[in-house]
Amino acid sequence: MYKAKAYAVSSATSPFGPATIERREPTDHDVQIEILFCGICHSDLHQARDEWHDMMPTMYPCVPGHEIVGRVTRVGSAVTKFKPGDLAAVGCMVDSDRTCPECKAGLEQFCNNFVLTYNFPDKHTGKVTYGGYSDSIVVTEHFVLKVPSNLDLAGAAPLLCAGITTYSPLRHWGVTKGKKVGVVGLGGLGHMGVKFAHALGAHTVVFTTSPGKKEDALRLGADEVVISKDANEMNKHAGSFDFILDAVAAPHDINAYINLLARDGNITLVGAPPEPLPVGVFGLIFRRRSFSGSLIGSIAETQEMLDFCGKHNITSDVEVIPIQKVNEAYERLLKSDVKYRFSIDMASLKSA
Ligand code: NAP
Ligand code: ZN
Repeated sequence: MYKAKAYAVSSATSPFGPATIERREPTDHDVQIEILFCGICHSDLHQARDEWHDMMPTMYPCVPGHEIVGRVTRVGSAVTKFKPGDLAAVGCMVDSDRTCPECKAGLEQFCNNFVLTYNFPDKHTGKVTYGGYSDSIVVTEHFVLKVPSNLDLAGAAPLLCAGITTYSPLRHWGVTKGKKVGVVGLGGLGHMGVKFAHALGAHTVVFTTSPGKKEDALRLGADEVVISKDANEMNKHAGSFDFILDAVAAPHDINAYINLLARDGNITLVGAPPEPLPVGVFGLIFRRRSFSGSLIGSIAETQEMLDFCGKHNITSDVEVIPIQKVNEAYERLLKSDVKYRFSIDMASLKSA
């Protein structure tokens, strides 16, 4: 074990502060990474504040962060893909059993025994996993990704969650040229969804509650922007969408979007508000529409997404902050006041 610097919360109501955590020494298959940037996902906020208590209660102290990019500092003797000095990235998962049918199918995100990057039991330390609001992390090689060298690192960090979580369902539901695609909520996930839908060639429509984001939505690649509070504007799109990606972090009326789907259209939720969302059955029955969810993406698909981003020069629009501003950043995230992802410059942790 060695000691690492981190920022942690000690309860659902306490602010973040400096902490010292224990990391394992790299074993044969491990990669040790000096963390350079870590994005702030709304899931970090949900979990730091124990908002997902009924599904996955938070164990304190909690060190969130699953949008990690950094540089390899040490590798175990059996590691083949990385060497010290390489760029590397870690997303939402750090392990899985790798023997179950899901793992064998290359879908680790559905493994019953996966290990999430933070707030999960850690067999190595006997404690819980600690995420990327830290100066280093040790992860088994299979769960470490390669970062295309042309990408800005602060903007690449959010690809590890916001990127893959939007890329995966767009690909799964066959979004391509000629399809009409909606993205609901222009936050960290939503703005990546817009960039990907646009890059895949779809006619992309953004639904936002924030009129002030309209210009940005167009700049990010949207063909149209709808202010979702305006029923007239919404009605103009009734029955017309092939696919809608809903990335909203709070309770909202899902039926308003189901009604915008064409025959056999699908709406996929990636946003994860803790409260149930009432769904009107008739909206689904008519036109054989479907309603589904999606969880991040597999390791192979995450690498595919990173390579796609390298090829198309896609990164997240980020506001880079020092770790000392993390409490303020959370308050702004709650007000949808970030364009469009906070990325923590982890060099700031040295002076914490
Ligand atoms: P975010 O940056 O806070 O963005 C959420 C956006 O939702 C806001 O920017 C806002 O967009 C919209 N919104 C907020 N409150 C709203 C309300 N009351 N009614 C309607 N719209 C509202 O959050 P994020 O980091 O993108 O995460 C979004 C959600 O995805 C979170 O719940 C997170 O936990 C979840 N998530 C899921 C997965 C997965 O694997 N499924 C992975 C990562 C994150 P406008 O201003 O444009 O309206
Ligand atoms: Zn996330």
